[in-house]
Amino acid sequence: MTAQFAEGDLVGILTTEPLGRVLDYRAPEGGCGLGDYVEVPLGPRRVLGVVWGPGEGGYDLAKVRPVTRVLEALPMRDEMRAFLARASEYTLTPLASMLRLSTRAPGLGEPPSTRRVYRLGDAEPSRATDARLRVLDTLRAYGGAAVTLAELSAEAGVTTSVVKGLVKSGAVLEEDAPRDLPYPPLDPEMQGARLAGDQIAAGDALVAAVAMGGYGTTLLKGVTGSGKTEVYLEAVAECLRQGRQALVLLPEIALTSEFLTRVEARFGARPAEWHSGITSTERRRLWRMVGEGGAQFVVGARSALFLPFRDLGLIVVDEEHDTSYKQEEVVFYNARDMAVLRASICGCQVVLASATPSLESWANADAGKYTRLDLGARFGVAQMPEMHAIDMRAEQLPSNRWISGTLARSVEARVARGEQSLLFLNRRGYAPVTICRACGHQIGCDDCDARMVEHRFLKRLVCHQCGATKPMPVACPSCKVEGKMAPVGPGVERMAEEVAERFPEARVAVLSSDLFGSARALKEQIGVIAAGGADIIIGTQIVAKGHNFPLLTLVGVIDADLGLQGSDLRAAERTFQLMRQVAGRAGRAEKRGVALLQSYQPEHPVIRAILGGDEEAFWRAEAAERRAAGVPPYGRMAGIILSSPDVAQVFDFGGELARRDGPLRRIGAQVFGPAPAPIARVRGRHRVRLLVKADKGAPLQAALAEWLAQLKPPNNLRLAVDIDPQSF
Ligand code: ADP
Ligand code: ZN
Repeated sequence: MTAQFAEGDLVGILTTEPLGRVLDYRAPEGGCGLGDYVEVPLGPRRVLGVVWGPGEGGYDLAKVRPVTRVLEALPMRDEMRAFLARASEYTLTPLASMLRLSTRAPGLGEPPSTRRVYRLGDAEPSRATDARLRVLDTLRAYGGAAVTLAELSAEAGVTTSVVKGLVKSGAVLEEDAPRDLPYPPLDPEMQGARLAGDQIAAGDALVAAVAMGGYGTTLLKGVTGSGKTEVYLEAVAECLRQGRQALVLLPEIALTSEFLTRVEARFGARPAEWHSGITSTERRRLWRMVGEGGAQFVVGARSALFLPFRDLGLIVVDEEHDTSYKQEEVVFYNARDMAVLRASICGCQVVLASATPSLESWANADAGKYTRLDLGARFGVAQMPEMHAIDMRAEQLPSNRWISGTLARSVEARVARGEQSLLFLNRRGYAPVTICRACGHQIGCDDCDARMVEHRFLKRLVCHQCGATKPMPVACPSCKVEGKMAPVGPGVERMAEEVAERFPEARVAVLSSDLFGSARALKEQIGVIAAGGADIIIGTQIVAKGHNFPLLTLVGVIDADLGLQGSDLRAAERTFQLMRQVAGRAGRAEKRGVALLQSYQPEHPVIRAILGGDEEAFWRAEAAERRAAGVPPYGRMAGIILSSPDVAQVFDFGGELARRDGPLRRIGAQVFGPAPAPIARVRGRHRVRLLVKADKGAPLQAALAEWLAQLKPPNNLRLAVDIDPQSF
């Protein structure tokens, strides 16, 4: 039983305000319990909080104010409080920020409003049309539970007027019900497993792990199309049979309708969705239903990890290597690592699925901390594509041309056969640089240390850091000469021009996140392509993520060297992953695909590893290098990012921190920097980074906390801690 506090008892409340500590209040009339969501006065305001423990006391008790009211029927569960506390310790972010992540549902504490819902009535319909019978069947499947009009008409595939007609005859009852209704029930046996080959053993292992309960992490590795989704859906099915809840995380951009449709085919209903695109009403409904158990299966973006599940049995992190799982604002966290933490606290299974796992997960499996399951080939007849490099040094391309003759001939052959080609270039916009041909001036963002990128569709220059835009100037801002501003290098929009010139007959589609006003528009375009509505697809990173284009048989990587520039130690891993993901788009159906990588350095070890396909050898070489350098996953790192409008101030403060490194030296850690952060200026703030490197077993967080507590940052300087930074 959770502790109860009687009216007037001192209680400690954690609020969502950045105060740095739990505050004392008096329990309200009727008392309150540990974990209760409450509203408390804070100065002139009322804020959200959670009863975190008994009050501390030790000061003028007469001044302690009472809790205003208890907000929700269900308290925060003990394991959720433990998770938030551990996540806060691990990421070194205030507990209040963690609480805010887990209460991102509007209207907590508001009495549930009502809406019209529908259930089966006693009367017979006046006329039994097909549409009407479908509505009645759907309601029968709900077994007496009420459904909203939108859900009912969507599930039965009828217009809302059909339902209204049934209401008139009394065959369907319309009534008021609380807004927060349970989600449609899912049936784990609806379609039944259909695993084959390697999938069977992998599915059995996961099902057994879920059935046994308790914590465990499995790395499910298999090329794109090998059936990873098919396999982990069986683990979800077992979780549903056990009456526990399942959560599948997808990289935000890949929350495709394709996935929802698949789940519906397998389980008879869609999972609940949680991401930035859902309405605030949905957000609140899901938040409540997850707590009450009225949502059995949630598919979501990384923040879904902070939902108050009643009884979580399984977390799947699909495309676990994806960098979008790392949040780098307010709270710096990696959803993959937080999933493992949450699972270890609540005693549930984690599945990390990927064709190209992160080196972290690969190493954890190698060390025996994670179970590893491999799916060998692609499902059915589909094979991984043949991969070749095109040596660009031999191609002698004229300037302002990026498609080699070799690649062009392959594309032509595809167009002639009615197959699709994808030209991949990870650069949004028309050209990455705009330069004045008279004086050499490059147009940069006024507020960031970044070049402005020309976007012809928008007819503007855009800063990819802060989103600022300005019109393309006629005269150079520096030397004032007119008509000399010229684009340098290719972006996807410029590729589209070259493609239109060279393949005038082909239908071309450009897939770049900025070209679509909404996720829906992007989904539509993806649907059009999948249905064969384009011959040549030009795309950025978003095409690498899990979309299924059955007619695609050729992938041409315009610049395979792009990710290998720079000094980032993760560059090899990232390029390897991205190239294999992109190449994996080719040849998903019965036709074998080809991937051609244009490179000026085809002898580079990473390019050779990508072509050679001996993945284990690549990972081993990469692991050996990281081990030698003592960096993750074989050592620990943290970034301290300082930012301020005043450049001298950030460097001074950073320098002062670096000098006072006693607490770090005591654990054998080293400090590097201050140095300009990977992005040195954003939105007018100068950014400086200190990197801390420690041995694997060192108590890094405790030392960091002690180190940072020595110096209070000046008022306009912001400090953020980034444990396990993406780049180092
Ligand atoms: P991955 O998640 O590894 O990319 P998927 O699970 O999406 O692979 O499978 C690729 C395609 O093959 C999907 O269209 C899927 O429906 C199909 N598929 C995979 N395994 C089977 C199977 N055992 N029976 C029928 N279809 C399958
Ligand atoms: Zn900017």
